[in-house]
Order: sequence, then C-alpha cells, then structure tokens
Amino acid sequence: MRPTRASPAPWHSATNGWPQTTVNTGGSRRAMARSSSIFHPNAAGTAPLSISALPWRRITVGCRDGATFEADAAILTVPLPLLSKIALPSAAHERVAATADIGFGNVIKILLRFTTKWWADHGGRDLVDLSFLLSDATVPTWWTQHPDEYPVLTGWLAGLKADRVSSLSEAELVDMGLASLAQIFDLPSDGIRRHLVASRAINWGNDPFARGAYSYATPKTRQAQSLLRQSHGDAIFFCGEALYAGPDMGTVEAALASGQETAQTILTGSPGTSSHAR
Ligand SMILES: Cc1cc2nc3c(=O)[nH]c(=O)nc-3n(C[C@H](O)[C@H](O)[C@H](O)COP(=O)(O)OP(=O)(O)OC[C@H]3O[C@@H](n4cnc5c(N)ncnc54)[C@H](O)[C@@H]3O)c2cc1C
Repeated sequence: MRPTRASPAPWHSATNGWPQTTVNTGGSRRAMARSSSIFHPNAAGTAPLSISALPWRRITVGCRDGATFEADAAILTVPLPLLSKIALPSAAHERVAATADIGFGNVIKILLRFTTKWWADHGGRDLVDLSFLLSDATVPTWWTQHPDEYPVLTGWLAGLKADRVSSLSEAELVDMGLASLAQIFDLPSDGIRRHLVASRAINWGNDPFARGAYSYATPKTRQAQSLLRQSHGDAIFFCGEALYAGPDMGTVEAALASGQETAQTILTGSPGTSSHAR
C-alpha cells in the first residue's frame, strides 16, 4: 500500500474515541468525506471503480491520522471486538455481524518482581524448582521464571474470573495478586509486599487495540468463520487467530495459518487450505 494524503478526514470522529480505520471500496475521496460512518461504494454516484489485474475492486483505507492508502485488497487482522469499530462498506459490515457467534475472552496478567525468591524454601518445603502453581485463590494460576533465577512471579486469570475483576485499577489488581499469594502460601500480605520491587498488571480487555485476549469456539463458530472468510468479491478479507478453523484458535499458530490461507486466497483467487486447518 502507499500513503496518498496526510490531512485530517471527517470520518475519524465517528466511533467514540475507538481506534478508527475506514475501509472503502471505490468511489472518490470526496464521497468518502461526505459519508459519516459506513461507506456505500456507489451511493454518491461518483466515478466507477477502477479495475486492477485482480478481479476485485480498488480499496481505499482511511486512517486515524488522516493518511489514506489505496490497494487492490484489504486484509483486516484486528482482534475480533475491534472489527465492528471499523467503518466498512455495507456488505463487509454485514459479514462482521457473524463475529457475535465467535467467543472472545479476556486475560489479566499480574507480574511481580521481588528482592528474593522468597517462595523457594517456604515452610520447610523445597520449592526451588517451582514452575507452575495452580490454586483456588482469586488469582489461581502463577508461574515462576524457572530455570532462570529471576525472582519474578506471574499471575494469570482468564475468562469469567477476569471478567469479574475487569473494573479494578492496576494497583488494585496488584493488591489482589499479593492477597492471593498470601492465601496460597499462608503468609501475611504485608510480609510478601515487603519483598516487592516492581509490579505490573495488564488487563487486555482495557487495551484499546485488543479489547480482550483469545477467541474460542462456540457451537456456531465454524459457520460464522466460514461466512467471514468469504470475500464476496469486495476484496475485503478478515484474517487472524479467530478466523482459524483448526483446533487451536487463540494461538500464534492459528494467526499464522489464517494469514497463509488468506494470502493463498488473494494470490490464486480461490480459498486456500492451510496445512494446519482441519
Ligand atoms: C496474555 C496473552 C498471552 C498469550 N500467550 C500465547 C502463547 O503463549 N502462545 C500462543 O500461541 N498464543 C498466545 N497468545 C495468543 C496470541 O497472542 C494471539 O492468538 C495472536 O497474537 C493473534 O494474532 P493476530 O494476528 O490474530 O492478532 P493480534 O496479535 O492481536 O494482532 C492484531 C493487531 O491489530 C492491531 N490493531 C487493533 N486495532 C487496529 C486498528 N484500528 N488499526 C490498525 N491496527 C489495529 C493491534 O494493535 C494488533 O497489533 C496470548 C495472548 C495473550 C493476550
């Protein structure tokens, strides 16, 4: 793609402060500027669509900083919850409705760096080789840096457990993590906190470029994926881990396989079959 303009465009304010991108098939830029949110390629009766070597319409993408890009096709790989925040031509916009049938969950991760690996010889137990710890605490899953010696513990909560605490601030999440460790190791929270050097808590549900962490399959997901993977000749392709029809959605492998499949579709004009997809 190549940038064609750097002036602000009026459609950028259309979605309540979300990262804003627009994808338009054909039509003039003036027609795009008149549209508010969803673009209808021929609604303004402007110049016909230019035809490239590929049998698809030409795409114009408008970015938040005012830049626009033109290309023969657009591949949208944003996380699932963000797809509906991008202004699309009506046919592609309608396909995005199918994302409601694909599960998408959150993850919160709490990273705590201590002065020492205080847990290694706690209570007479030799936990020097501890890697993973699974518990019933509010933050149930923890792992160490073993075999590296860094005195860091990483806490993890996902799905409904993450949803229940998603409104907490970073400081509150760190407190919650320390309280969970206190419960697991039967120690006072303040005692553990005395060893704390640095902390971070990351809630992917609050990240404006993620709005969550993983997709997962529901009974309707395969059908939804198949609908989303059809471009309907508008040269707009949806891609990414959530579009992967194999068994391991929510992984880097799934994202890669989906990307390869989409590239194959664009290069050959017919849907590709990833070696990983089943
Ligand atoms: C905490 C955590 C741990 C994980 N651990 C593992 C693991 O160990 N192994 C594993 O295989 N997978 C893991 N995953 C999952 C893995 O990260 C994802 O499955 C994978 O990154 C999905 O790739 P993707 O390209 O589909 O989407 P993403 O990697 O989410 O890429 C989407 C990109 O779109 C960008 N974007 C969003 N909105 C816009 C916009 N409007 N305009 C332009 N760009 C935009 C985002 O910034 C992002 O860079 C983990 C995920 C999380 C959250």
